[in-house]
Amino acid sequence: MVNKRLVVIGGGAAGFFCAVNAARLHTQLEVILIEKSSKLLSKVKVSGGGRCNVTHNAPDIPYMSKRYPRGQHFVKKAFSRFFVQDTIAWFKERGVALKAEADGRMFPVTDNSQTIIDCLLREADKYGVKIRMNAAVSELVSGSKGWEIRLQDGDTLKADLVCVAAGGYAQLEKFAWLQAIGHQIEAPMPSLFTFNMPDNPITTLMGVSVEEAHVKIAGTKLQEKGPLLITHWGMSGPCILRLSAWGARELGALQYQFTALINWLPAFNENSLRDEIQGLRFSLGGQKMHHKNPFGLPQRLWQFFLQQSGIGEDIRWADMPAKEQHKLIKYLTAMLCPVKGKTTFKEEFVTCGGIRLSEIDPATMESKLAPGLFFAGEVMDVDGITGGFNFQHAWTSGWIAASTIAER
Ligand SMILES: Cc1cc2nc3c(=O)[nH]c(=O)nc-3n(C[C@H](O)[C@H](O)[C@H](O)COP(=O)(O)OP(=O)(O)OC[C@H]3O[C@@H](n4cnc5c(N)ncnc54)[C@H](O)[C@@H]3O)c2cc1C
Repeated sequence: MVNKRLVVIGGGAAGFFCAVNAARLHTQLEVILIEKSSKLLSKVKVSGGGRCNVTHNAPDIPYMSKRYPRGQHFVKKAFSRFFVQDTIAWFKERGVALKAEADGRMFPVTDNSQTIIDCLLREADKYGVKIRMNAAVSELVSGSKGWEIRLQDGDTLKADLVCVAAGGYAQLEKFAWLQAIGHQIEAPMPSLFTFNMPDNPITTLMGVSVEEAHVKIAGTKLQEKGPLLITHWGMSGPCILRLSAWGARELGALQYQFTALINWLPAFNENSLRDEIQGLRFSLGGQKMHHKNPFGLPQRLWQFFLQQSGIGEDIRWADMPAKEQHKLIKYLTAMLCPVKGKTTFKEEFVTCGGIRLSEIDPATMESKLAPGLFFAGEVMDVDGITGGFNFQHAWTSGWIAASTIAER
């Protein structure tokens, strides 16, 4: 016998995880999931290049929570209730094995995001979650007997409990129906983007990557170390994406016009590289610089730096003029790259901003302003760097909301 109704708004990862777990844990609960579009779990489908990077193989909660530029303290508390191991076990119990790659990203062993979608749809079917598509919620009204959910098409639903899992909106106006309940919204901003460097000759080396570069943003405290990829429009790779996430607000305020300072040899600074090169002038003295690349950089990149520094193909280590040596050291340890604009990272992009976290209890995901109202996923002001962190937040918050709801 049904004794309560939960309406979940949003048919993405967080909404599904909340709906299926609430229906499973509370058999007398009627669960209705509302999705405005004609597709369910559409981001799961395209995520991780079609493979779905479900979570991250993190050793512990402190390591994991440090990967969230917004919401670090909030997720730390939430992870103590539902963490990576719980995600792995949850999917395993339902026949979906996950595997970890060397960089920590975890995918279904099938390497196919459809496996995750099928699993969530099966669970929804098994526990009788009612799904209503092409239905956009336009208003939420709380009354003495629970909630009234008004749809754009004029229809109205009643519910005892509501979970908002509507994802991240790119424009502040779209949050109006949530502001109307009294919640504050941190302004939305794109996160996880790559840097545009129009007319920079380095873009002719598109496809070349280094395992570790150190990139700083001039005039800010932003800096990151990690793999860097040269693209035909500028620069990408984990180092740049992480910088874009940590600097989402600051770089947005600069309208994506700033200077990146790149150290291609992070083991050295300008002075220590000068000492090293002094030594190489003796040890490699007779060898041509273009042929002998002593730093393990990709050959094309090394030759590019020599050309840019004005070092001709026949110059030997011992004969490098002082002025050119100075230029080379500058290129290698502090190359100045003006950035003009950004490009969305197609593999994964998120919106930072959303419901202010001080208004949500991380132990329950319930609104502190409106009892019976819960939040899950990207609609909150939480976002992670690339690597499975955003989905883990969706699973964690969806599960916590569901288990709290099941106890009501
Ligand atoms: C291309 C791409 C690839 C990604 N790859 C990864 C990855 O591999 N790993 C990772 O961790 N993260 C990845 N992300 C980020 C991740 O997909 C999101 O953080 C995650 O999907 C958020 O889940 P969610 O359920 O909160 O929101 P969403 O998945 O956005 O779902 C919200 C749903 O709510 C619906 N909705 C919105 N408003 C209403 C309304 N008013 N009424 C009814 N329905 C509404 C929307 O139509 C949508 O279906 C990727 C993102 C993108 C764009």
